[in-house]
Amino acid sequence: MELADRLRRLPPYLFARLDEAKERQVARGMDVIDLGVGDPDLPTPSPIVERMKRAVERPEHHRYPTYEGMFAFREAVARWYKRRFGVELDPESEVIALIGSKEGIGHLPMAFVNPGDVVLIPDPGYPVYRGATILAGGEPYPMPLRAGNGFLPDFSAIPRDVLDKARLMFLNYPNNPTAAVAPLGLFEEAVGLAKEYGIILCHDAAYSEVYFGEPPHSLMEVEGAKEVAIEFHSLSKTFNMTGWRIGMGVGNARIIQGLKRVKTNIDSGAFQAVQEAGIEALDGEHGVEEMRRVYRERRDVLIDRLRGAGFRADSPQATFYVWFPVPEGQDSVAFATRALQEVGVVLTPGVGFGPHGEGYVRAALTVPKEYLEEAGERLRRIV
Ligand SMILES: *Cc1c(COP(=O)(O)O)cnc(C)c1O
Repeated sequence: MELADRLRRLPPYLFARLDEAKERQVARGMDVIDLGVGDPDLPTPSPIVERMKRAVERPEHHRYPTYEGMFAFREAVARWYKRRFGVELDPESEVIALIGSKEGIGHLPMAFVNPGDVVLIPDPGYPVYRGATILAGGEPYPMPLRAGNGFLPDFSAIPRDVLDKARLMFLNYPNNPTAAVAPLGLFEEAVGLAKEYGIILCHDAAYSEVYFGEPPHSLMEVEGAKEVAIEFHSLSKTFNMTGWRIGMGVGNARIIQGLKRVKTNIDSGAFQAVQEAGIEALDGEHGVEEMRRVYRERRDVLIDRLRGAGFRADSPQATFYVWFPVPEGQDSVAFATRALQEVGVVLTPGVGFGPHGEGYVRAALTVPKEYLEEAGERLRRIV
């Protein structure tokens, strides 16, 4: 069967290959510690689960949900934005419920990108920005995130003709995979650039609540952001709800409308019982403090062990990732392969997030701290 050109233009899905390699090692009987995939191991807080149990009994939730989501869910999103960021949103026109934020990120280019349009993407970055751009026929243009610049893009390095052709820009802070946090100034600069060049700004804030210092900013805090931007949020990482599939997009009403048009033609809304559980999560902020405490403790354990082993690892101020340079003279795939084959530790090679991720690996703090201690000890043997 011949695949369509658009699928053949996609880079191979990194995590699929990693999973295969891991499965081979497990099949050989190796005791593998998986720091590869960023999927919280903690359970969804019980008030959210309890609310779901009640909601699932109600027949009115068993029917097709609306595309944009229940008004009550969108109101809960608006309340949360007001409380958390001081941002006012109109729940009617400026909020849309999503079947996880990946759904919205994946569909957005289909609404706004024509073949040949440039889409600015962070490199390294969450692979969905590139994939969704290619599926929509767009041309991804990488914005390097370099350690020397705090893993922030340097907008002044983007050529003018590229900016002229750019239709969309993806940003993501707190950042996966680098764990960097953006100052409000970066968002201000981005909004200015978006206005000047007619670019739609798309900020992915999936990790806004996974922080250990100052609470990260929302792009929507910037004056005028709503004229040019959409921000994606997810309940997945904040409330350990990755399997539930619930997230939201907020911001410019016309961008939200475009996204809704695509949804109307391709999928449906999120299960209403899940939206009710989402209301519970946002209003109650259940378990969020505990979630941060757990990741902070794990972060400190892993950073301590990595440094003790001789790695140069900075302590992240947000996200549940540690992004650190591989030993001198090795590349990220070679080092991750050694880590898996020689000591049974799964790390994600940085190059899988884009060419500028080369030289780094990412470790996810989504396993108990005893495993992180053990992983640190094992990695010591291959420095
Ligand atoms: C996990 C993740 C998401 C998507 O999460 P959903 O479960 O689809 O809401 C989005 N962006 C980044 C950067 C992520 O790491």
